[in-house]
Amino acid sequence: MSKTFRILLLPGDGIGPEVVGATARVLQHLEARGLAHFQIEEAPLGGASIDKYGMPLTDDTLRLAKKVDAILMGAVGGPKWDAVPYHIRPEQALLSLRKELDLFANLRPAMTFAPLISASSLKPEIVSGLDIMFIRELTGGMYFGEPRGITELEDGSKRGINTHVYTSYEIRRVARVAFALARRRRNKVCSVDKANVMEAGKLWRQEVHTVHQMDYGDVELSNMYADNCAMQLVRAPKQFDVILTDNLFGDLLSDEAAMLTGSLGMLPSASLGDDESGTHHALYEPIHGSAPDIAGQNIANPLATILSAAMMLRHTCHMDDVGRMLEQAVIKTLEQGHRTRDIATPGDTVVNTNEMADAVIRALD
Ligand code: NAD
Repeated sequence: MSKTFRILLLPGDGIGPEVVGATARVLQHLEARGLAHFQIEEAPLGGASIDKYGMPLTDDTLRLAKKVDAILMGAVGGPKWDAVPYHIRPEQALLSLRKELDLFANLRPAMTFAPLISASSLKPEIVSGLDIMFIRELTGGMYFGEPRGITELEDGSKRGINTHVYTSYEIRRVARVAFALARRRRNKVCSVDKANVMEAGKLWRQEVHTVHQMDYGDVELSNMYADNCAMQLVRAPKQFDVILTDNLFGDLLSDEAAMLTGSLGMLPSASLGDDESGTHHALYEPIHGSAPDIAGQNIANPLATILSAAMMLRHTCHMDDVGRMLEQAVIKTLEQGHRTRDIATPGDTVVNTNEMADAVIRALD
């Protein structure tokens, strides 16, 4: 009997409960077929938690999040909570979870699906077969560095300040994730920085090379400046396998890469904690938001969340074979012509959220 994995569902707001609910049915199907074993729990997050408990992330939910093997999240936020004070906004729940679980490595694949190739704004020959994995450092750098803030100057004008700061430890641990992952893919890492104009970028480059020399000499390593990477992603994106970069550049470049695929409702992500410290925390979520404009209508595309569950099978459960099976089921579902509204072109038969999940479940059999 294989291990039972404790999974915490945090559906969140908007379409979150719909896409997470659909994905939970897929997980239950894998369990019914004896392919994996899960103990599934659920808690409110974001606006849903504000409505129930007055705060976006309760101590109970955080305690549970620290105990489970993995979290599968929907999305948080929406206009209903626009007026709540900044420190209890729904988005704070996600920031707190990342910080409390030390989820420092953000994995964001940018891949195209052959049946949806026309959704990309780039020519098919540039993007067909695209398969990039971004590893973005998620808990350091510009978004967290001190000092930060807005101060008033003597002349009455103001000064805004943020600090881009990284330590050797922070760079080395995320570099290790990138190299280890590259070994399971096409064995290539491109490390992206601005070492030409930033000291923290210079250290980034040095530390990545140190880790490479120490333990990952078999992996092909290259370096690229972030501005060049932004250009290369639209010029010749298939040159990349794993792209390793910091929090700020990773934020921008992974969004750019996601748009190469043209399908926001299709892309998953994972945020991983530190294996070496023994924490193994992991949070899986689609890259899209709570889509309040279509919430409650059962028309959202659940595939990004289902593919997030496939990442969970690979990275938390270490079941690459079952993860691949689920990814193949998604591709088969698309090949069979099933389309939710967001990925449909004129003439397609449009299915709703639950029908899409049903199609994936059938494709698994
Ligand atoms: P969004 O991703 O929610 O929506 C952008 C557009 O894409 C909308 O038209 C939406 O209908 C569509 N869309 C998104 N996901 C879809 C899916 N699965 N199926 C079909 N269509 C889909 O981005 P937004 O409108 O900028 O943000 C809405 C809310 O989500 C905001 O409150 C924002 O703060 C929040 N948000 C949360 C997260 C998160 O929880 N990780 C991420 C991004 C945005």
